Amino acid sequence: MAELVFRIDAGEPARRELEISLEIPAEALAASADRQLFLPTWTPGSYLVREYARQLGPVEVVGGAGDAPVRCQKVAKNRFRLPATQGAVRVRYRVYAHELSVRTAHVDELQAYWNHACLLLWPVGGENLAARIIVTLPAGWSHACALPTATLAADEAVAVETVAERPTTRTICLVASDLDRAIDAPFLAGKLQRLDWDVLGVPHSIVCSGLGSVTAPATLQQDFTAIVQSAAAVFGGSLPYERYLFQCLFTDSGHGGLEHADSTTLLMSRTALHDRKGYLEFVSLAAHELFHAWNVKRMRPRELWRYDYENENYTRLLWLMEGWTAYFDDLLTLRAGIASREEYLRAFAGNLDRMRGNQGRFVLSLEESSFDAWIRLYRPDENTRNSSQNYYGNGAVAAACLDLRIRKLTAGANGLEVVARRLFERTFANGRGYTRDDVDAVLLDVAGTAAVETLGHLVDGTLDPDLQQVFADVGIAVIDDGAGAPFLGLTFDASGTTVAAVQRGSAADAAGIAPQDELLALQDLRVTGGNWRAVLKAVARVGEPLTMLYSRRGMIGTAVAVPSAGQGSIRLRPVPGATAEQVALRDGWLATACAKQQPDAAGDSGNAAPSEPRM
Ligand SMILES: [Zn+2]
Repeated sequence: MAELVFRIDAGEPARRELEISLEIPAEALAASADRQLFLPTWTPGSYLVREYARQLGPVEVVGGAGDAPVRCQKVAKNRFRLPATQGAVRVRYRVYAHELSVRTAHVDELQAYWNHACLLLWPVGGENLAARIIVTLPAGWSHACALPTATLAADEAVAVETVAERPTTRTICLVASDLDRAIDAPFLAGKLQRLDWDVLGVPHSIVCSGLGSVTAPATLQQDFTAIVQSAAAVFGGSLPYERYLFQCLFTDSGHGGLEHADSTTLLMSRTALHDRKGYLEFVSLAAHELFHAWNVKRMRPRELWRYDYENENYTRLLWLMEGWTAYFDDLLTLRAGIASREEYLRAFAGNLDRMRGNQGRFVLSLEESSFDAWIRLYRPDENTRNSSQNYYGNGAVAAACLDLRIRKLTAGANGLEVVARRLFERTFANGRGYTRDDVDAVLLDVAGTAAVETLGHLVDGTLDPDLQQVFADVGIAVIDDGAGAPFLGLTFDASGTTVAAVQRGSAADAAGIAPQDELLALQDLRVTGGNWRAVLKAVARVGEPLTMLYSRRGMIGTAVAVPSAGQGSIRLRPVPGATAEQVALRDGWLATACAKQQPDAAGDSGNAAPSEPRM
């Protein structure tokens, strides 16, 4: 079987460049279309064309000794054509790698992290080819990747351009059975801190980079165990993978994750780990990405069953892929016994607040916002919140409304997790992707026609649920804290009083205030980033004219706004006098299903599993 051989040299990480070579056997070339190589333009899970090829240097074919390298002809933004030659071909190129995010490639003196989508030129039409990926790293670095390793052949332990292995480096070999597997397994290396253990008999690992002198919380292993158990319980109790790796990138700020079938990369502020809110967000992020091991990486829409790595892959179902996952992530922290009921309800109320401030939900449905992810969600601008929906947060709200509706309709017998589990069993377990019809059919079976209609209302049109009614069914009151205060509808940028966004239909919108205006004064009082809230509170009255002085492209202007009564922020409070039916539905919804348990015995990965995480 023909096999590609990549060599990635990260042995001099301070150069911020990776030197890569690719050997293509003759039989693999024969199968490739027009002798072309391509680089993906996006990474599954992050729905934006990112044009990774802009970081590539010239791509050259290297001949035998004494032959000058021959440049490949570029035939598209991300495609290269090999010159016509006989036999196997060796290609050489460099990739600039200095963007530390879960979806890109980065190398510095402390660590290397990359998605293979950013690095591996692959023969067009050769997506089923297996590959050996030989990586040279600084000596003393370890690595973590979901791809299995293989023993290096004697002549393989050589970096790209050197004739002998440098004493300051070490070389490893990964194997990928095809392009999908290579793309779905990011690579992390550095001075890593690692913890290996088993959950439900399956090896799990947490690998951390960038913690510095921050100590990982001692509860991490126990809490991740409970999260894995809680996620498995949603889908019937077993795990869909043979091992799982949490790759954790810690930095000074930031928050994000990317899902893969057998691993995930989490990016998080290192200091937030020791803040209760930050820690819960980290565990919730891990729960989110782990939930994707079922929802998205395995069970996924038919249109994403086979990825087209070069073009936008459109789907109208991101409200399920991301919205349901964003709903279950916090819920899993509750079920796992990590977040309290109060903490969960507080976090969920944040989703409701953000939904209420999002006028785009009256313009573009969740289904339409899913389709437009490629040009909207990943490219937010000053008008995004007026023109479209965030299918994460609003998708989570829609998921909650549907879940509570199912519970009400079935007297607590079923919930959204039963829908998710049956959809998984009917589609992925039968080797196919799902359609909206599959979702509706499962919903019909689980909770009847009324539930199908509810879903339609939530995702196909305006998202404007009757929150009082939704939560009354489970004995929870929706309280508006601080409602009635003067509200203008302005958001400022972080630096001061320059307008970042104007809420459509708000008082400021009606007064003609525009994004990028700098607000200078309210009435006769100067405002700054530090005092504008206090000034607003002091001089503004609901329904009374308020003079605003602003600068627009260097010219001073005035506008008169009439503040409306603000909606305040939502607090969800269990009603003390709820009926027995309401209490039963509430307890079913907010049950702590998995009591915290001690993790299983240590794994067999060769790394000693400490009783306390030593990270
Ligand atoms: Zn997600």
